[in-house]
Amino acid sequence: MLAFGDGKRGGSEGGVKMEGVVITEWKDIPVELLLRIVSLVDDRTVIMASGVCSGWRDAICLGLTHLSLSWCKNSMNNLVLSLAPKFTKLQTLVLRQDKPQLEDHAVETIAGYCHDLQDLDLSKSFKLSDLSLYALAHGCPNLSKLNISGCTAFSDVGLEYLFEFCRKLKILNLCGCVKGATDRALQGIGRNCSQLQFLNLGWCENVGDVGVMSLAYGCPELRTVDLCGCASITDESVIALANRCPHLISLGLYYCRNITDRAMYSLVHNRVKNKLAMWESMKGRCDGEGLRSLNISQCTALTPPAVQALCDSFPALHTCSGRHSLVMSGCLHLTSVHCVCAVQAHRPHTEPYMQLGRSPACEPAGGRTMPLRADGVRNGEHIITHHAALLDASLEDVMN
Ligand SMILES: [Zn+2]
Repeated sequence: MLAFGDGKRGGSEGGVKMEGVVITEWKDIPVELLLRIVSLVDDRTVIMASGVCSGWRDAICLGLTHLSLSWCKNSMNNLVLSLAPKFTKLQTLVLRQDKPQLEDHAVETIAGYCHDLQDLDLSKSFKLSDLSLYALAHGCPNLSKLNISGCTAFSDVGLEYLFEFCRKLKILNLCGCVKGATDRALQGIGRNCSQLQFLNLGWCENVGDVGVMSLAYGCPELRTVDLCGCASITDESVIALANRCPHLISLGLYYCRNITDRAMYSLVHNRVKNKLAMWESMKGRCDGEGLRSLNISQCTALTPPAVQALCDSFPALHTCSGRHSLVMSGCLHLTSVHCVCAVQAHRPHTEPYMQLGRSPACEPAGGRTMPLRADGVRNGEHIITHHAALLDASLEDVMN
Protein backbone atom coordinates (compact mmCIF):
# COMPACT_ATOMS: atom_id res chain seq x y z
CA MET A 1 0.00 0.00 0.00
CA LEU A 2 3.03 2.27 0.01
CA ALA A 3 2.17 3.34 -3.49
CA PHE A 4 -0.90 5.07 -2.14
CA GLY A 5 0.84 7.07 0.59
CA ASP A 6 1.02 10.38 -1.30
CA GLY A 7 -2.55 10.11 -2.47
CA LYS A 8 -3.76 9.70 1.08
CA ARG A 9 -2.03 12.88 2.20
CA GLY A 10 -3.41 14.71 -0.80
CA GLY A 11 -6.90 13.49 0.02
CA SER A 12 -6.73 14.67 3.62
CA GLU A 13 -5.66 18.12 2.51
CA GLY A 14 -8.75 18.77 0.47
CA GLY A 15 -8.34 16.73 -2.71
CA VAL A 16 -5.95 16.09 -5.60
CA LYS A 17 -6.97 17.27 -9.02
CA MET A 18 -6.32 14.77 -11.81
CA GLU A 19 -7.39 15.46 -15.37
CA GLY A 20 -10.42 17.38 -14.26
CA VAL A 21 -11.42 14.88 -11.55
CA VAL A 22 -11.21 16.01 -7.94
CA ILE A 23 -10.18 13.09 -5.73
CA THR A 24 -11.35 13.61 -2.17
CA GLU A 25 -11.74 9.99 -1.07
CA TRP A 26 -10.15 6.63 -1.83
CA LYS A 27 -13.15 5.62 -3.90
CA ASP A 28 -12.70 8.61 -6.23
CA ILE A 29 -9.56 7.21 -7.85
CA PRO A 30 -10.51 6.29 -11.41
CA VAL A 31 -10.86 2.55 -11.90
CA GLU A 32 -8.28 2.55 -14.69
CA LEU A 33 -5.72 4.25 -12.44
CA LEU A 34 -6.49 1.93 -9.54
CA LEU A 35 -6.03 -1.16 -11.71
CA ARG A 36 -2.82 0.29 -13.10
CA ILE A 37 -1.47 0.76 -9.57
CA VAL A 38 -2.68 -2.70 -8.57
CA SER A 39 -0.79 -4.21 -11.49
CA LEU A 40 2.45 -2.83 -10.03
CA VAL A 41 2.15 -4.21 -6.49
CA ASP A 42 2.45 -7.77 -5.17
CA ASP A 43 -0.51 -10.08 -4.82
CA ARG A 44 -0.76 -9.82 -1.07
CA THR A 45 -1.11 -6.03 -1.41
CA VAL A 46 -3.77 -6.44 -4.09
CA ILE A 47 -5.90 -8.47 -1.69
CA MET A 48 -5.42 -5.86 1.04
CA ALA A 49 -6.34 -3.10 -1.41
CA SER A 50 -9.59 -4.87 -2.24
CA GLY A 51 -10.61 -4.37 1.40
CA VAL A 52 -10.12 -0.59 1.48
CA CYS A 53 -13.66 0.30 0.42
CA SER A 54 -16.54 -1.15 -1.55
CA GLY A 55 -15.54 0.85 -4.63
CA TRP A 56 -12.04 -0.58 -4.67
CA ARG A 57 -13.33 -4.06 -3.91
CA ASP A 58 -15.70 -3.96 -6.86
CA ALA A 59 -13.09 -2.50 -9.20
CA ILE A 60 -10.38 -4.99 -8.24
CA CYS A 61 -12.73 -7.96 -8.23
CA LEU A 62 -13.90 -7.17 -11.73
CA GLY A 63 -10.56 -5.99 -13.08
CA LEU A 64 -8.08 -8.51 -11.70
CA THR A 65 -7.07 -11.19 -14.19
CA HIS A 66 -3.83 -12.59 -12.69
CA LEU A 67 -3.30 -13.76 -9.12
CA SER A 68 -0.74 -15.86 -7.29
CA LEU A 69 -1.25 -17.13 -3.76
CA SER A 70 1.95 -19.16 -3.65
CA TRP A 71 3.32 -16.86 -0.94
CA CYS A 72 0.57 -18.13 1.37
CA LYS A 73 2.15 -20.72 3.66
CA ASN A 74 -0.72 -21.71 5.94
CA SER A 75 -4.16 -20.48 4.95
CA MET A 76 -4.26 -20.84 1.17
CA ASN A 77 -7.34 -23.04 1.31
CA ASN A 78 -9.39 -20.51 3.27
CA LEU A 79 -8.11 -17.64 1.18
CA VAL A 80 -9.21 -19.37 -2.02
CA LEU A 81 -12.64 -20.09 -0.53
CA SER A 82 -13.04 -16.42 0.29
CA LEU A 83 -11.51 -14.88 -2.85
CA ALA A 84 -12.67 -17.13 -5.70
CA PRO A 85 -16.35 -16.02 -5.51
CA LYS A 86 -15.21 -12.37 -5.79
CA PHE A 87 -12.40 -12.56 -8.35
CA THR A 88 -14.54 -13.99 -11.10
CA LYS A 89 -12.54 -12.55 -14.00
CA LEU A 90 -9.32 -14.38 -13.18
CA GLN A 91 -7.52 -15.82 -16.17
CA THR A 92 -4.34 -16.89 -14.38
CA LEU A 93 -4.26 -18.40 -10.91
CA VAL A 94 -1.07 -19.74 -9.33
CA LEU A 95 -1.61 -21.95 -6.28
CA ARG A 96 1.74 -23.71 -6.14
CA GLN A 97 2.45 -25.05 -2.66
CA ASP A 98 5.47 -26.19 -0.71
CA LYS A 99 3.35 -28.09 1.78
CA PRO A 100 -0.08 -29.30 0.64
CA GLN A 101 -2.88 -26.98 1.74
CA LEU A 102 -5.52 -27.01 -0.98
CA GLU A 103 -8.52 -29.30 -0.62
CA ASP A 104 -11.16 -30.27 -3.14
CA HIS A 105 -13.79 -27.79 -2.01
CA ALA A 106 -11.39 -24.90 -2.74
CA VAL A 107 -10.91 -26.09 -6.33
CA GLU A 108 -14.66 -26.69 -6.62
CA THR A 109 -15.20 -23.05 -5.59
CA ILE A 110 -12.71 -21.87 -8.22
CA ALA A 111 -14.47 -23.92 -10.86
CA GLY A 112 -17.82 -22.58 -9.68
CA TYR A 113 -16.90 -18.91 -10.13
CA CYS A 114 -13.81 -18.43 -12.31
CA HIS A 115 -15.07 -19.59 -15.68
CA ASP A 116 -12.55 -17.49 -17.66
CA LEU A 117 -9.57 -19.30 -16.16
CA GLN A 118 -6.94 -20.16 -18.78
CA ASP A 119 -3.83 -20.79 -16.71
CA LEU A 120 -3.98 -22.77 -13.46
CA ASP A 121 -1.07 -23.99 -11.36
CA LEU A 122 -2.03 -26.54 -8.70
CA SER A 123 1.38 -28.17 -8.46
CA LYS A 124 2.15 -30.20 -5.34
CA SER A 125 -1.50 -30.37 -4.25
CA PHE A 126 -1.19 -33.83 -2.72
CA LYS A 127 -4.56 -33.60 -0.99
CA LEU A 128 -6.64 -33.02 -4.13
CA SER A 129 -8.70 -35.92 -5.44
CA ASP A 130 -10.53 -36.55 -8.71
CA LEU A 131 -13.39 -34.39 -7.38
CA SER A 132 -11.23 -31.37 -8.25
CA LEU A 133 -10.74 -32.65 -11.79
CA TYR A 134 -14.47 -33.20 -12.29
CA ALA A 135 -15.18 -29.64 -11.08
CA LEU A 136 -12.54 -28.11 -13.36
CA ALA A 137 -13.84 -30.11 -16.32
CA HIS A 138 -17.24 -28.46 -15.97
CA GLY A 139 -16.26 -25.01 -14.69
CA CYS A 140 -13.09 -24.13 -16.60
CA PRO A 141 -13.37 -25.34 -20.20
CA ASN A 142 -11.03 -22.59 -21.44
CA LEU A 143 -7.95 -23.87 -19.65
CA SER A 144 -4.98 -23.74 -22.01
CA LYS A 145 -2.25 -24.18 -19.41
CA LEU A 146 -2.50 -26.58 -16.49
CA ASN A 147 0.19 -27.57 -14.02
CA ILE A 148 -0.77 -30.47 -11.77
CA SER A 149 2.74 -31.81 -11.31
CA GLY A 150 3.11 -33.72 -8.10
CA CYS A 151 -0.65 -34.16 -7.62
CA THR A 152 -0.22 -37.80 -6.78
CA ALA A 153 -3.82 -38.61 -5.86
CA PHE A 154 -5.38 -37.96 -9.27
CA SER A 155 -6.41 -41.13 -11.10
CA ASP A 156 -6.36 -41.81 -14.82
CA VAL A 157 -10.17 -41.94 -14.81
CA GLY A 158 -10.28 -38.40 -13.43
CA LEU A 159 -7.71 -37.12 -15.91
CA GLU A 160 -9.46 -38.79 -18.82
CA TYR A 161 -12.67 -37.05 -17.77
CA LEU A 162 -10.91 -33.66 -17.56
CA PHE A 163 -9.47 -33.98 -21.07
CA GLU A 164 -12.92 -34.63 -22.51
CA PHE A 165 -13.97 -31.12 -21.46
CA CYS A 166 -10.76 -29.08 -21.40
CA ARG A 167 -9.92 -29.48 -25.06
CA LYS A 168 -8.01 -26.23 -25.49
CA LEU A 169 -5.01 -27.35 -23.45
CA LYS A 170 -1.68 -26.33 -24.97
CA ILE A 171 0.63 -26.70 -21.99
CA LEU A 172 0.21 -29.58 -19.57
CA ASN A 173 2.49 -30.60 -16.74
CA LEU A 174 1.80 -34.06 -15.30
CA CYS A 175 5.28 -34.61 -13.88
CA GLY A 176 5.08 -37.05 -11.02
CA CYS A 177 1.37 -37.87 -11.48
CA VAL A 178 2.33 -41.52 -11.25
CA LYS A 179 -1.13 -42.85 -10.58
CA GLY A 180 -2.95 -40.61 -13.07
CA ALA A 181 -0.63 -40.48 -16.08
CA THR A 182 -1.29 -43.87 -17.60
CA ASP A 183 -1.87 -44.97 -21.17
CA ARG A 184 -5.60 -44.51 -20.57
CA ALA A 185 -5.09 -40.84 -19.63
CA LEU A 186 -2.76 -40.25 -22.58
CA GLN A 187 -5.30 -41.79 -24.93
CA GLY A 188 -7.76 -39.25 -23.55
CA ILE A 189 -5.32 -36.46 -24.44
CA GLY A 190 -4.81 -37.87 -27.92
CA ARG A 191 -8.56 -38.04 -28.52
CA ASN A 192 -9.40 -34.55 -27.28
CA CYS A 193 -6.46 -32.15 -26.98
CA SER A 194 -5.21 -31.71 -30.53
CA GLN A 195 -3.71 -28.28 -29.75
CA LEU A 196 -1.31 -29.60 -27.11
CA GLN A 197 2.23 -28.26 -27.57
CA PHE A 198 4.00 -28.96 -24.28
CA LEU A 199 3.67 -32.10 -22.17
CA ASN A 200 5.70 -33.08 -19.15
CA LEU A 201 5.36 -36.75 -18.18
CA GLY A 202 8.51 -36.88 -16.08
CA TRP A 203 8.69 -39.90 -13.76
CA CYS A 204 5.26 -41.16 -14.79
CA GLU A 205 6.36 -44.75 -14.77
CA ASN A 206 2.99 -46.12 -15.84
CA VAL A 207 3.28 -44.45 -19.23
CA GLY A 208 3.80 -46.95 -22.04
CA ASP A 209 4.06 -47.04 -25.82
CA VAL A 210 0.30 -47.25 -26.32
CA GLY A 211 -0.21 -43.95 -24.54
CA VAL A 212 2.66 -42.10 -26.21
CA MET A 213 1.60 -43.34 -29.63
CA SER A 214 -1.93 -42.03 -29.01
CA LEU A 215 -0.41 -38.69 -28.11
CA ALA A 216 1.74 -38.60 -31.21
CA TYR A 217 -1.20 -39.39 -33.46
CA GLY A 218 -3.63 -37.02 -31.76
CA CYS A 219 -1.40 -34.04 -31.00
CA PRO A 220 0.52 -33.01 -34.15
CA GLU A 221 1.41 -29.61 -32.65
CA LEU A 222 3.60 -31.10 -29.92
CA ARG A 223 6.85 -29.18 -29.49
CA THR A 224 8.17 -30.32 -26.14
CA VAL A 225 7.71 -33.79 -24.67
CA ASP A 226 9.40 -34.84 -21.45
CA LEU A 227 9.40 -38.61 -20.96
CA CYS A 228 12.27 -38.66 -18.45
CA GLY A 229 11.93 -41.65 -16.18
CA CYS A 230 9.16 -43.25 -18.25
CA ALA A 231 11.21 -46.41 -18.14
CA SER A 232 8.69 -48.66 -19.90
CA ILE A 233 8.60 -46.87 -23.23
CA THR A 234 10.49 -48.30 -26.19
CA ASP A 235 11.58 -47.14 -29.63
CA GLU A 236 7.95 -47.30 -30.77
CA SER A 237 7.15 -44.19 -28.73
CA VAL A 238 10.01 -42.16 -30.19
CA ILE A 239 9.33 -43.36 -33.73
CA ALA A 240 5.67 -42.30 -33.42
CA LEU A 241 6.67 -38.85 -32.15
CA ALA A 242 9.29 -38.51 -34.91
CA ASN A 243 6.79 -39.53 -37.58
CA ARG A 244 3.79 -37.55 -36.43
CA CYS A 245 5.08 -34.44 -34.66
CA PRO A 246 7.09 -32.37 -37.17
CA HIS A 247 7.42 -29.39 -34.79
CA LEU A 248 9.18 -31.35 -32.05
CA ILE A 249 12.04 -29.24 -30.63
CA SER A 250 12.63 -30.80 -27.22
CA LEU A 251 12.56 -34.41 -26.11
CA GLY A 252 13.48 -35.85 -22.72
CA LEU A 253 14.37 -39.54 -22.61
CA TYR A 254 16.42 -39.66 -19.44
CA TYR A 255 16.51 -43.18 -18.02
CA CYS A 256 14.42 -44.61 -20.86
CA ARG A 257 16.70 -47.59 -21.04
CA ASN A 258 14.77 -49.48 -23.71
CA ILE A 259 15.58 -46.80 -26.28
CA THR A 260 17.95 -48.02 -29.01
CA ASP A 261 19.64 -46.64 -32.13
CA ARG A 262 16.45 -47.34 -34.04
CA ALA A 263 14.76 -44.43 -32.26
CA MET A 264 17.68 -42.10 -33.04
CA TYR A 265 17.65 -43.01 -36.74
CA SER A 266 13.90 -42.43 -36.90
CA LEU A 267 14.47 -38.85 -35.70
CA VAL A 268 17.22 -38.40 -38.33
CA HIS A 269 15.08 -39.91 -41.06
CA ASN A 270 12.10 -37.69 -40.30
CA ARG A 271 14.31 -34.61 -40.14
CA VAL A 272 15.44 -35.25 -43.69
CA LYS A 273 11.91 -36.06 -44.81
CA ASN A 274 10.41 -32.94 -43.23
CA LYS A 275 13.12 -30.70 -44.59
CA LEU A 276 12.73 -32.00 -48.13
CA ALA A 277 8.94 -31.66 -47.90
CA MET A 278 9.32 -28.14 -46.63
CA TRP A 279 11.61 -27.18 -49.49
CA GLU A 280 9.19 -28.54 -52.03
CA SER A 281 6.06 -27.02 -50.54
CA MET A 282 7.41 -23.67 -49.40
CA LYS A 283 9.93 -22.85 -52.11
CA GLY A 284 13.06 -23.14 -50.07
CA ARG A 285 11.95 -21.76 -46.73
CA CYS A 286 13.55 -23.55 -43.81
CA ASP A 287 11.55 -24.68 -40.79
CA GLY A 288 13.96 -23.85 -37.96
CA GLU A 289 16.48 -26.37 -36.88
CA GLY A 290 14.25 -29.15 -35.57
CA LEU A 291 15.34 -30.66 -32.25
CA ARG A 292 17.06 -28.12 -30.02
CA SER A 293 17.10 -30.12 -26.83
CA LEU A 294 17.50 -33.83 -26.23
CA ASN A 295 18.23 -35.69 -23.03
CA ILE A 296 19.41 -39.26 -23.52
CA SER A 297 21.19 -39.62 -20.19
CA GLN A 298 21.29 -43.21 -18.95
CA CYS A 299 20.03 -44.51 -22.31
CA THR A 300 22.80 -47.03 -22.22
CA ALA A 301 21.83 -49.02 -25.30
CA LEU A 302 22.64 -46.18 -27.73
CA THR A 303 25.81 -46.36 -29.84
CA PRO A 304 28.08 -43.53 -31.05
CA PRO A 305 27.26 -43.76 -34.81
CA ALA A 306 23.52 -43.33 -34.22
CA VAL A 307 23.91 -40.43 -31.80
CA GLN A 308 26.51 -38.77 -34.05
CA ALA A 309 24.11 -39.04 -37.00
CA LEU A 310 21.50 -37.32 -34.87
CA CYS A 311 23.95 -34.60 -33.86
CA ASP A 312 24.86 -34.01 -37.51
CA SER A 313 21.22 -33.80 -38.53
CA PHE A 314 20.22 -31.32 -35.84
CA PRO A 315 22.88 -28.60 -35.72
CA ALA A 316 21.19 -26.98 -32.70
CA LEU A 317 22.06 -30.03 -30.58
CA HIS A 318 25.29 -29.27 -28.76
CA THR A 319 27.56 -31.38 -26.61
CA CYS A 320 29.99 -28.52 -25.99
CA SER A 321 30.23 -26.95 -22.56
CA GLY A 322 28.05 -23.93 -22.09
CA ARG A 323 25.38 -24.95 -24.58
CA HIS A 324 24.92 -28.60 -23.75
CA SER A 325 21.56 -29.13 -25.39
CA LEU A 326 22.35 -32.81 -26.07
CA VAL A 327 22.61 -34.26 -22.58
CA MET A 328 24.25 -37.68 -22.34
CA SER A 329 25.17 -38.03 -18.65
CA GLY A 330 25.99 -41.57 -17.69
CA CYS A 331 26.59 -42.68 -21.30
CA LEU A 332 30.34 -43.15 -21.05
CA HIS A 333 30.46 -45.05 -24.32
CA LEU A 334 29.18 -41.96 -26.17
CA THR A 335 32.14 -39.70 -25.34
CA SER A 336 33.24 -39.77 -28.99
CA VAL A 337 30.03 -37.98 -30.07
CA HIS A 338 30.59 -34.27 -30.72
CA CYS A 339 28.50 -31.37 -31.85
CA VAL A 340 29.25 -29.23 -34.85
CA CYS A 341 31.42 -26.85 -32.78
CA ALA A 342 34.06 -29.51 -32.25
CA VAL A 343 34.28 -30.13 -35.98
CA GLN A 344 34.59 -26.41 -36.71
CA ALA A 345 37.31 -25.99 -34.11
CA HIS A 346 39.56 -28.35 -36.07
CA ARG A 347 38.72 -26.91 -39.49
CA PRO A 348 41.51 -25.05 -41.42
CA HIS A 349 40.57 -21.38 -41.88
CA THR A 350 41.51 -21.31 -45.58
CA GLU A 351 39.17 -24.06 -46.66
CA PRO A 352 37.04 -23.00 -49.64
CA TYR A 353 33.27 -23.08 -49.65
CA MET A 354 31.49 -25.68 -51.63
CA GLN A 355 28.57 -24.26 -53.55
CA LEU A 356 25.55 -26.53 -53.30
CA GLY A 357 23.00 -24.35 -55.03
CA ARG A 358 20.95 -23.82 -51.90
CA SER A 359 18.25 -21.23 -51.76
CA PRO A 360 19.23 -17.86 -50.28
CA ALA A 361 16.19 -18.12 -48.02
CA CYS A 362 17.94 -20.91 -46.16
CA GLU A 363 21.00 -18.87 -45.27
CA PRO A 364 21.27 -17.98 -41.60
CA ALA A 365 20.14 -14.52 -40.52
CA GLY A 366 22.61 -11.78 -41.32
CA GLY A 367 23.67 -13.30 -44.61
CA ARG A 368 26.40 -15.39 -43.01
CA THR A 369 27.26 -18.60 -44.75
CA MET A 370 27.57 -21.72 -42.69
CA PRO A 371 31.14 -22.96 -42.62
CA LEU A 372 32.21 -26.17 -44.20
CA ARG A 373 32.67 -29.26 -42.14
CA ALA A 374 35.84 -31.23 -42.37
CA ASP A 375 34.18 -33.50 -44.89
CA GLY A 376 33.49 -30.54 -47.16
CA VAL A 377 29.79 -30.23 -46.55
CA ARG A 378 28.17 -27.18 -45.00
CA ASN A 379 26.46 -28.01 -41.75
CA GLY A 380 22.97 -27.28 -42.87
CA GLU A 381 23.42 -29.48 -45.91
CA HIS A 382 25.07 -32.32 -44.16
CA ILE A 383 21.96 -34.32 -43.56
CA ILE A 384 20.76 -34.00 -47.11
CA THR A 385 23.98 -35.17 -48.70
CA HIS A 386 26.04 -37.33 -46.45
CA HIS A 387 23.17 -39.09 -44.75
CA ALA A 388 21.10 -39.54 -47.85
CA ALA A 389 23.04 -42.67 -48.72
CA LEU A 390 22.89 -43.93 -45.18
CA LEU A 391 19.17 -43.32 -45.02
CA ASP A 392 18.45 -45.07 -48.25
CA ALA A 393 20.62 -48.02 -47.38
CA SER A 394 19.96 -48.78 -43.79
CA LEU A 395 17.17 -46.64 -42.44
CA GLU A 396 14.50 -47.87 -44.75
CA ASP A 397 14.66 -51.30 -43.13
CA VAL A 398 14.62 -49.69 -39.74
CA MET A 399 11.56 -47.64 -40.54
CA ASN A 400 9.66 -50.48 -42.21
ZN1 LIG B 1 28.49 -27.01 -29.69
